[in-house]
Amino acid sequence: MILVTGGAGFIGGNFVLDWLANPTAEGIVNLDKLTYAGNLTTLKSLEKDTRHVFVQGDIGDYELVLSLLKKYSIRAVVNFAAESHVDRSIHGPGDFIQTNVVGTFNLLEAVRVYWTELPEPQKQSFRFLHVSTDEVYGSLSPTDPAFSETNSYQPNSPYSASKAASDHLVRAWHHTYGLPVLTTNCSNNYGPYHFPEKLIPLVILNALAGKPLPIYGDGQQIRDWLYVKDHCSAIRRVLEAGKLGETYNVGGWNEKPNLDVVHTICSILDGLRPKTDGTSYATQITYVKDRPGHDRRYAIDATKLERELGWRPAETFETGIPKTVQWYLDNQEWTEGILSGSYREWVQKQYSR
Ligand code: NAD
Repeated sequence: MILVTGGAGFIGGNFVLDWLANPTAEGIVNLDKLTYAGNLTTLKSLEKDTRHVFVQGDIGDYELVLSLLKKYSIRAVVNFAAESHVDRSIHGPGDFIQTNVVGTFNLLEAVRVYWTELPEPQKQSFRFLHVSTDEVYGSLSPTDPAFSETNSYQPNSPYSASKAASDHLVRAWHHTYGLPVLTTNCSNNYGPYHFPEKLIPLVILNALAGKPLPIYGDGQQIRDWLYVKDHCSAIRRVLEAGKLGETYNVGGWNEKPNLDVVHTICSILDGLRPKTDGTSYATQITYVKDRPGHDRRYAIDATKLERELGWRPAETFETGIPKTVQWYLDNQEWTEGILSGSYREWVQKQYSR
């Protein structure tokens, strides 16, 4: 079996669903603390799938992690668990240090102890894959080349600094202890099951609710967007064929200013769900004060992953974004559940311990 951490979150949840969609895939132990961002309704379709074992717990809980590794004879760990929202990291960085830095450290230590005691063949084939972000590289000017794996780390927010620290720990555990690690640094993801505090789901849901569509500053911050299923396929590819100790950038070659992303969503919604008063959803766009230290541009050069492991994204932004908007229209129960608090009550009943 494999251990997935943070598998009730946005990307982890998509990863678990995609992995288990293959009927011959091995099982997953899914360790998630169920913070505000963890959502078990994402995994509802797996309720009867005995290959999915959900455990509510913290990656920083060394004893718990070690016991799970032993109990399920784990052969690989994929670490998604993190505090992931930049705005929240500005207002309260403590949780980011605790989970992303201290939590990753405790996780690595439990994995190291377990891995050290494995018999030789299992020791050789064991993998620890750490999922990280392009934000560790800092910000680019409009003319800079995209981030490659050799760019230096220059994190600017508490979130990216905490992720950078975790990447360094993972690297050090490879160089110092020989732990068989892999790291992926990915650009902005979008797609189903995205917590509605992030730009794309926020814009879709606010538009439908007739609320303002907030744009930070001039809206010209450029991000490279990747459909979440493509991120999942990249992680699977790196897990099966990545070179130990290496990092792989994952991106979609889809650089877009935030304002263009919002206008694209508005025009898709104008076609799919026209407003009764005949105006465009774009009339709801509202400019708000920019986030402090807001990075201007991220762009990812994913050539290494393509050249060495043959990975390419299946979606472009133009194909992935209409699918995403349609998904939120078809799955309003999912978001309403999170926003109304009924989800929290359900979890408390199911997993109170
Ligand atoms: P998310 O916030 O949607 O999910 C994080 C999950 O981790 C949640 O289910 C949460 O309950 C869980 N979690 C938090 N703290 C935990 C702890 N201490 N122990 C166990 N579980 C804990 O995040 P996401 O967007 O799915 O991101 C997943 C990973 O991918 C993160 O490491 C993030 O840095 C990285 N990443 C995200 C993006 C993106 O665009 N979302 C891009 C690149 C990399």
